[in-house]
Amino acid sequence: MIEIEELTFQYREADAPAIEDVSLSIPSGTFAGIIGPAGSGKSTLTYALNGIVPHCYPGDLYGSVRIEGHDTCDTALTDLSRMVGSVCQDIDSQFISAVVEDEMLYGLENYGVPHDQIEERVKEALDAMGIAELRHRSIASLSGGQKQKVAIASILALRPSVLVLDEPTAELDPASSRSVFTLLSHYVEAHGTTVVVVEQKIALLSEFADLLVVMDGGRIRFADAPEEVLAHSEELLEIGVNCPRCTTLMNRLAAGGLYEGPVCTNVSSACRALCEVAA
Ligand code: ADP
Ligand code: MG
Repeated sequence: MIEIEELTFQYREADAPAIEDVSLSIPSGTFAGIIGPAGSGKSTLTYALNGIVPHCYPGDLYGSVRIEGHDTCDTALTDLSRMVGSVCQDIDSQFISAVVEDEMLYGLENYGVPHDQIEERVKEALDAMGIAELRHRSIASLSGGQKQKVAIASILALRPSVLVLDEPTAELDPASSRSVFTLLSHYVEAHGTTVVVVEQKIALLSEFADLLVVMDGGRIRFADAPEEVLAHSEELLEIGVNCPRCTTLMNRLAAGGLYEGPVCTNVSSACRALCEVAA
């Protein structure tokens, strides 16, 4: 369970808070997506979850963040990192080893995982990300999508209860992006892990997330089920979040009294709804 209460954080050099009065509860096992325009505080919110804020970036913090009851301000970063696994935006800077297997072993050994558990953990994490065949490959030889999966697998091997990812698909093509989300959602279902992912692709996020959080100017604008949030396509557009066009189209038809059904989050549901409207 993640409990954020009235959280405000201002970086020391900044003249305004990066996030302001943010309150949010994320129950265990939730797949939460964070979206919002550039500079809206998405990354800072992820830093508040993994403890980088306030432990690494100095600044003023008001309010609280609790991960399974532990206040992140009072918990050492090393202890937090055992609960909250993070995949940062620049994964190339995250890799420490040259070979996939070594990268996974590095984390496991660093965390003092008993030797008789290591093989099982490596295998499970590689299988979870569908990359068992990459185990002995050099990381430099991998595609962007494969690297992202390696970065995620090496964190999953540590079995964190919360997994935080900042724009994991930013450099990936649509097929690899979907593949990362599909594998992650299967993992969450099987292990009850809480996932918090910052993602610009709203259609992808809406398909997989249980909870969609929209940030704007450091504040939470919406935090609800994707269908509820997507009902506000006009407001989302105003703050610079583009809804799928089929959603905007159907919302406009609904506003004009021509459609009364649920929000359409993808082309198939919009198509079905349009067939009904036309019938
Ligand atoms: P996003 O991830 O949504 O683009 P960020 O959390 O990176 O947003 O940034 C939110 C605000 O905080 C921005 O105004 C940004 O300039 C500022 N900011 C981010 N990192 C730092 C930092 N290390 N020092 C000072 N200001 C920062
Ligand atoms: Mg960011």
